[in-house]
Amino acid sequence: MKSKEKGLIFDIQSFSVHDGPGCRTNVFFVGCPLRCKWCANPESFGNKRHVMFSANTCKYSSGCTACRNACPRGGLDFTEEGKPIMNWAVCKACETFECIATCANGSLKMCGKEYTVEELMKILKRDFSNWGSEGGVTFTGGEPLGHHEFLLEVLKECKRSQIHTAIETSSYIDTPTYLKVMSYINFAFTDVKNMDREKHKEGTGVYNDLILHNISTLKKSGWQGRLVLRQPTIAGYNDSDENALKLIEFMKENDLYEINLLKFHRLGETKWNQLGLKYAYSTGGTMTDERMAELQSLYLDHNIACYIGDKTPF
Ligand code: SF4
Ligand code: SF4
Repeated sequence: MKSKEKGLIFDIQSFSVHDGPGCRTNVFFVGCPLRCKWCANPESFGNKRHVMFSANTCKYSSGCTACRNACPRGGLDFTEEGKPIMNWAVCKACETFECIATCANGSLKMCGKEYTVEELMKILKRDFSNWGSEGGVTFTGGEPLGHHEFLLEVLKECKRSQIHTAIETSSYIDTPTYLKVMSYINFAFTDVKNMDREKHKEGTGVYNDLILHNISTLKKSGWQGRLVLRQPTIAGYNDSDENALKLIEFMKENDLYEINLLKFHRLGETKWNQLGLKYAYSTGGTMTDERMAELQSLYLDHNIACYIGDKTPF
């Protein structure tokens, strides 16, 4: 019987080699319960389709006016030079997106497309021959667990087809749902952004209690997968020895011995602008290579394998 579940996905990328063992297909889900101030994929915020405007590719300076009369709701304003500006207060509620079809340059793009289980499995099976013996699919986003009903159906199909499954998750969801989904996952990266609950809330919008509880419960459940903790490492936010030592203590208590530290970058900044959102890290947060190496040594000194950037061995 065909599943009725649908998942809202904003990108599917084949041939990834950094998000799990072997060559993989990455599936990016729309929607996230966290609001990390440094997020590199802010197009995953919200839980519905929306438009993205790329000022960099817009051809207004060459005289393009194609979108000028496209919006029936006043969603597009124009500067004196003719450059379009999204009126986000209007565009966030849009359901019809008339403006997108008028732009031949792809400067106005839809973010998010609904897939059925069958449609997504067709794409994964198409990529099957690219993966080699170790590869598979990685569910990421946004937050894949936000689509857990759909994801569970896809995961069951993957199991039937012997497809290796990985997830990149915040682990921020009720514990029974978390355990149910994770029972079908072979490999997981899960973030612990700060061990201090107030700082975690300040940086991400939520407390870390549920995340730590879920990771702990998963590890004690007899789950057979491999779990690597991950931390985007940001100067002045979570780069202190104190934070690392608390995390080391938590890891040892829970039989966890691998962490991947990601050096802070500003790759998401343009997308924040395209979405009409204010980016909090235009300045600050920058990590030096020396400090990353010091933190790595601290973990290694406590017998925790610590990988920097894309160096996680699979
Ligand atoms: S149609 Fe596209 S390229 Fe032309 S002005 Fe509008 S957004 Fe820019
Ligand atoms: S997204 Fe909708 S409201 Fe905004 S400019 Fe396009 S058509 Fe208008």
